[in-house]
Amino acid sequence: MAERRFHFMVQDDTGDQCPGDIVIVSAWNGTFKPDPHASFTIVLSQRPLEHGTPAPTADNVAICMPASSVRLPAAVREARASYGGESPDAGPGRLPLRVLNSYAEGSIAVAHQLAITPREVFVSGSAGPRYDLLARALIARTRKAERCWRAINEALSRPDVAPSRIDEGQLRGKLEHLLSKAPTATAAEASARVSMIAGGSSPLDVDSRPAALAEDVAHLRCLCERRTDAEQLEWMRSYMEEARPHDGSQLEDDYPYTIEQLSFVALVDQPHLIDGMRATFEVFRSTYAKQYATLHADHWSETKTIQATLKLARPTAHALGKLNTLTRLGEPVAIDELQAFDELLRQPSGCSQQDVEPALVSAPTCPACHLAFADVSLASQATDVIEGLEQGLAEQQTRLASKAVHRILGQGGAKLERFLQIVRAADLTDLALVLDDQLLAFLDELLAEPISAPPYER
Ligand SMILES: [Zn+2]
Ligand SMILES: [Zn+2]
Repeated sequence: MAERRFHFMVQDDTGDQCPGDIVIVSAWNGTFKPDPHASFTIVLSQRPLEHGTPAPTADNVAICMPASSVRLPAAVREARASYGGESPDAGPGRLPLRVLNSYAEGSIAVAHQLAITPREVFVSGSAGPRYDLLARALIARTRKAERCWRAINEALSRPDVAPSRIDEGQLRGKLEHLLSKAPTATAAEASARVSMIAGGSSPLDVDSRPAALAEDVAHLRCLCERRTDAEQLEWMRSYMEEARPHDGSQLEDDYPYTIEQLSFVALVDQPHLIDGMRATFEVFRSTYAKQYATLHADHWSETKTIQATLKLARPTAHALGKLNTLTRLGEPVAIDELQAFDELLRQPSGCSQQDVEPALVSAPTCPACHLAFADVSLASQATDVIEGLEQGLAEQQTRLASKAVHRILGQGGAKLERFLQIVRAADLTDLALVLDDQLLAFLDELLAEPISAPPYER
């Protein structure tokens, strides 16, 4: 592959100078070997992206491809001649506008997603393409991945000191070996993440938090090396997962502290810590159980009140449901509220569990109702729904009055009396009672009649 190489320096975010390469190749086919000492390599391919063009494997390499073929060595010479010579260490410098545009509309292939687009790199301007932006993005990405690999490397060796040289291929092999030995039935998530990395994914695409990756690796190691302790820790952690306190809870401060203590990395380092972990967990759990029991009692007594309020709103829902069937009144209203109302009424109104607190030794929620600790309050939801129903009913009554008044005035008598009874019904219970099917049919017919002029206009 014919290539031309330029050295290019950028400053990283700590102010250090990082030397890298910008390389011009006729076409990118994946066989290119970047200089191992370069902190980044930007390849300018003269051929566009084709089907089957491989992505680079190294994190610090980016391949820039134009939208359609360009001739770069000539273009670079041409640009240099017209702008005056530049140092060979400054990269390919300015590009003619048509070449620049072709790259801007082209693509940048990297091993993993970068938050930078060809349009941001190949901007027209006096300073030439922004290779520096691309280089810095590559450096940042590479360092982030390195931190992940270091964490994995350390987690594999703990409590011994990890080998200082990081070989990604070797580490993937070790992870593969660990997966083959560990009884992973109880650690589905950790083993899924670790096997993605073992299978060739970048750690950054699995979980960009080095500490989380280290926990996954340590988790699998604990399952191999001290299974009983590992399973106990798994149980405590899954209990904690469900026992997450809601905002403003007294447990908000204790929770992160306890979670931090329940660490597989710590267990790998110091196996005897399992006793301390159990104690820390038990301190949290007993406080949690007391709070949960209070919440449980409050929740169910509140629910009783809500159910009573909901039952009082039944006539409103009934009347609204009936009026909604009169299509001549217009689109039905408060449909969502009617549905939510039915759902709220269907909610259980009590829990059979007598004493909740002792039951929380073996599980984080009540064995009978499984009330979630962070459950949303039903009270505000019920109030909103009832308000919505009342507004909806008022709207339908207004529609009914305005649409039917002219029709009814022409008729008078018993019909008028009956109609006024409906429209004026201030007490919703009365309205619901008078709104039987016979009356609905009457209203429906009435709304279908042509408007008759009132007697005084005749
Ligand atoms: Zn990678
Ligand atoms: Zn319960």
